[in-house]
Amino acid sequence: MGIADGKTALVVGVANEKSLAFSIAQELRAQGAAVALTYQGEVLEKRVRPLAAQIGAEVIGELDVTNDGQIAETFAALHKKYGGLDMLVHAVAFAERDDLRDRFLNVNRTNFARAMEISAYSLVALARAAEPLMEARGGGSIVTLSYIGAVRAIPNYNMMGVAKAALEACVRYLAMDLGAKGIRINALSAGPARTLSSSAIRDFFTMAHHVEERSPLKRAMKIEEVGKMGAVLLSDLSSGVTGQTVYVDVGYSIVG
Ligand code: NAP
Repeated sequence: MGIADGKTALVVGVANEKSLAFSIAQELRAQGAAVALTYQGEVLEKRVRPLAAQIGAEVIGELDVTNDGQIAETFAALHKKYGGLDMLVHAVAFAERDDLRDRFLNVNRTNFARAMEISAYSLVALARAAEPLMEARGGGSIVTLSYIGAVRAIPNYNMMGVAKAALEACVRYLAMDLGAKGIRINALSAGPARTLSSSAIRDFFTMAHHVEERSPLKRAMKIEEVGKMGAVLLSDLSSGVTGQTVYVDVGYSIVG
């Protein structure tokens, strides 16, 4: 018996085997859920298909979160295949490489808007599309991925920190809108992990090393730990939790 037995999940944001989204997808499969993955573009499709096969997940189609047509197609395909949806993982973020170094002050209007659209607005768009499918199941749970740079000024995180602050605020307002339908939504704030996205952040290793040295657990966060907490937040084990930012960061966020 798994904590996700009989549930259907959509996981958005798998780029490769190191993706935090893949760790959640793996854990959801291990806990009994049917899992659907999406990919962004042909290059990633080639990576995502074998990963889906590896864990027994379905590839439901292409999804660029800035494309409303693809969002509609994804949820229509889910409806057709599963009749509803219980769990949604949003693990998508983007900022221009130049805006993840030096001075935040220099970000331009276009880059600011694009980072906010992909990293924060996309959660609202996916939650809106998921609402009727979750309602059909009598409720559901949504998890997005955040970082401590949302609430503290972390060197070089810059534009992404501002987008994560917006993302965490979106979680709270979406929790208010969706709660009456039994739909929960939370942010999982993960510690630093070496992934495709994080490689764009200047001095990422210094940041990760600092966390290892100063955190109460005195080690790096393991990617599987994001998978496990993701599965808990998505499952009924966390039925009383919504609108929260939950830290999976080996305790770093409590250190003064
Ligand atoms: P990742 O493996 O690179 O995943 C990021 C995903 O976002 C990729 O699949 C990427 O696809 C996708 N994406 C970007 N723009 C998109 C768009 N327009 N439409 C659809 N997908 C798009 O890196 P990750 O570290 O696991 O990131 C997942 C989430 O965790 C992000 O929200 C990130 O900010 C968050 N997070 C990461 C860390 C960390 O240290 N790694 C810590 C805390 C939180 P492309 O590769 O095609 O752009």
